[in-house]
Amino acid sequence: MISVEQHLDRILGTVKVIRPFEQGVLDAQGCILAEDVRARGSLPGFTNSAMDGYAVHARDVSSATPESPVVLPVVNDIAAGNTSALSLAQGQTMRIMTGAPMPHGADAVVPVEATDGGVVRVQIRERSVVGQHVRELGEDVEAGSVVLKRGTLVGPGQIALLAAAGVPRLRVVPRPRVVVISTGDELVDVGTTPAFGQIVDSNSLMLTAAVTAVGATPFRVGGIPDDARVLMQTLEGQLVRADAIITTGGVSMGAFDTVKEVLSRVGTMQFDKVAMRPGMPQGFGLLGEEQVPVFTLPGNPVSALVSFHVFVAPALRAMAGRPEPAYPPGYVPAVAAEPFTSVPGKMEFVRVVLEDDRARLAGGQGSHMLGALAAADALAVIPESVSAVQAGDPLECLPLLGREGQ
Ligand code: AMP
Ligand code: MG
Repeated sequence: MISVEQHLDRILGTVKVIRPFEQGVLDAQGCILAEDVRARGSLPGFTNSAMDGYAVHARDVSSATPESPVVLPVVNDIAAGNTSALSLAQGQTMRIMTGAPMPHGADAVVPVEATDGGVVRVQIRERSVVGQHVRELGEDVEAGSVVLKRGTLVGPGQIALLAAAGVPRLRVVPRPRVVVISTGDELVDVGTTPAFGQIVDSNSLMLTAAVTAVGATPFRVGGIPDDARVLMQTLEGQLVRADAIITTGGVSMGAFDTVKEVLSRVGTMQFDKVAMRPGMPQGFGLLGEEQVPVFTLPGNPVSALVSFHVFVAPALRAMAGRPEPAYPPGYVPAVAAEPFTSVPGKMEFVRVVLEDDRARLAGGQGSHMLGALAAADALAVIPESVSAVQAGDPLECLPLLGREGQ
């Protein structure tokens, strides 16, 4: 028996960051930048108005007050999108809209609220100073400067900056492409009514959703029978398009545990008993020419989802180039709302409902119990040394993917 930490260390010591790849700016969402990115142009790209109002020479309106307004002739209108090079003579004004280019010579904008809104002649009731309500060329970003550093996680704000700075494509660590395969003679696909002795393959849907939730790209193969040839053929077919493969089922001590039987002899696959509950039987290794990481998870759905959170999610994040610490990955503190027991010698992952920071059992803790799994917000992680938890004891919880906002 090995510890959870030993198994995770072996996995994280084996997986590699995926080779960077040039992507369109929108496809970089959720990815880590593989290079420093420089702005192709300045932001703003031209000096423009920050308000709807009147472009002026500040000197012309330096004495304006509500009691003695300055009156100026309005010689033009400038809307956002106007591309002509205009010039403003002293003693004149132009109506200007937010984002419209400042005419040459003008050095301030008087907001429309400080005027009578005239279109031929305008009364200006407020003095202005040079630069007021003007967005200067390059005040935000200088052309040629590094705007985002290698290692940055790209989100909506970064995408806006890249687009505005004239960067349509960039090198990022791609999202891992993850193939999900379930094994078991008893499986039927969702939408098919199971006959006596059959069950719906919920694992492949659950893990496909989990892969999406960690920002990777899933390919769901679905259920295959407990058959050595079908398994090998399926794996060989999938290895070409996968950065990682997840299988479920067939890794325990049963008579038809094909995954373990077949893969024990292949690549660097290694099958271990890990001191955890649920999720004890685990397999991991590299398969194929491209040395694709393969995670063989146990078949019970709760075991499979716990294994995903504890081993697969940190590995996928590492492959995506994310710097976050893999262990313990984002635990949150809570307090036990009720007493419960825990098996000594194993790290236990207890499905709990969180109410503020109070954790109560989500229901039956059997590793086949989907009702309790679906009710849970988090896994309370009970160390090997603990055999009983009292109400009021502090707990470390691992939030379940997609339940963080509950
Ligand atoms: P195994 O690890 O193959 O021995 O499976 C353990 C338990 O998990 C059995 O009760 C299986 O029926 C169940 N199981 C296996 N694969 C799936 C699946 N894809 N979806 C739902 N339950 C499964
Ligand atoms: Mg099975």
